[in-house]
Amino acid sequence: MNNVSMDQLISLCKRRGFIFPGSEIYGGLANAWDFGPLGVALKNNIKRSWWQTFVEERDDMYGLDAALLMNRKVWQASGHESTFSDPLIECKNCHERFREDQLPPEKKCPSCGKQEFTQPQQFNLMLKTFLGPAEEDANIVYFRPETAQAMFVDFKQIVDTYSPKLPFGIAQIGKAFRNEITPGNFIFRTREFEQMEIEYFIKPGDDWNVYFEQWLAAMKAWMKKIGIDQNKTHDLEVPKEELAHYSKRTIDIEFDFPFGRKELYGLAYRGDFDLTNHKQEYFNEETKERVVPHVIEPSFGVERSVLAVLASAYQEDEIEGEKRTWLNLPMRIAPYRAAVFPLLSNKPELIEKAQEVRKELQGAWPGFFPIAFDKSGNIGKRYRRQDEIGTPYCFTVDFQTLQDNTITVRDRNTMKQERIVIAEARKFLEEKLRE
Ligand code: ATP
Repeated sequence: MNNVSMDQLISLCKRRGFIFPGSEIYGGLANAWDFGPLGVALKNNIKRSWWQTFVEERDDMYGLDAALLMNRKVWQASGHESTFSDPLIECKNCHERFREDQLPPEKKCPSCGKQEFTQPQQFNLMLKTFLGPAEEDANIVYFRPETAQAMFVDFKQIVDTYSPKLPFGIAQIGKAFRNEITPGNFIFRTREFEQMEIEYFIKPGDDWNVYFEQWLAAMKAWMKKIGIDQNKTHDLEVPKEELAHYSKRTIDIEFDFPFGRKELYGLAYRGDFDLTNHKQEYFNEETKERVVPHVIEPSFGVERSVLAVLASAYQEDEIEGEKRTWLNLPMRIAPYRAAVFPLLSNKPELIEKAQEVRKELQGAWPGFFPIAFDKSGNIGKRYRRQDEIGTPYCFTVDFQTLQDNTITVRDRNTMKQERIVIAEARKFLEEKLRE
């Protein structure tokens, strides 16, 4: 197990253009972060892998991309307008505000150490805005605080169009907004973030435990696929007295982040609470009965996935007395599948050949592989740069290449090199990708 600090992660992310502070030239904005070229590549690969695993490879799932702004009645029916809140307290000494349930056990102010707070007030986490030019109550809309509700609201559309048999699910990836009282810990808790959520609908009489366990196993299998360290993940069975009133069982999948063990994902059995709220039913063609399906909800945060993946992948070792920082990212989510270098940067024939090799390795849509190209500095430095961003393989074009069409391929993890023929290089990557 690697023990990476937040400083190491944040510094790597900034240095290499994965993630940097949002609006930085104007002093930033309350823990908002922007994903740079490598960050967006990593994030997109994680989302793509999720979509492929949970939507495209299954026959019982329907994808959705609903509008982010929804009718206010959605949030009234779901209960969010009245109850989606956290207990807000203020330190009487320094006037900092906190979530009461997140105070340290000794109940001291995290800012000044005093122990006197105001009474907790329920603070609604939904961000409000107004649609249209008039800022009046009738025009209030909320930025959605979760992607989940759209899947209940559009339940009828899916059922009417596709007549799916129970059990089936709806899945969505998209932005969500919460006016968090204390955002922080880098991208762990922000006010704008992305979720990947599934609502899985089952027959009311069916044993929900079976589906619950299946989803837990599916979540774990996917986490492994994207390289989340299994030794750092733990299932927290949410105690009965802390469950939401509609939930019979919730598991928080926690991760040992550098700042402590915290929720990464959630899995909840929600009964018929949501569809009942929205007065939705399902007509069972076989029994000719109208039923309100029950719901199992696996819920994933995109930014927390990125953070857990980076914390799992971060490695430091020493080669010939020099420190090497590298990311042990699985090839399927690494920003680049490979890199190509010309041995020397001042030999046009090597550069031209290397560009040719890069083109060949990239292939074309829909089998396109992003391949990096680097000709600056010496080869050792180029390897280090690719190691640091998790590129699994580096190919080098040298003078022998010009004679026999072979190139060297160097493995990020073992740092071993071998020579292969160019015509085999793309196949080499395809095989590695399937491993
Ligand atoms: P927490 O207890 O940490 O506030 P939650 O239990 O309210 O989280 P859910 O409502 O279950 O979170 O949201 C589902 C998922 O969305 C979480 O497991 C997490 O991955 C992600 N998520 C929730 N809030 C945030 C946030 N403010 N910033 C980033 N990701 C978030």
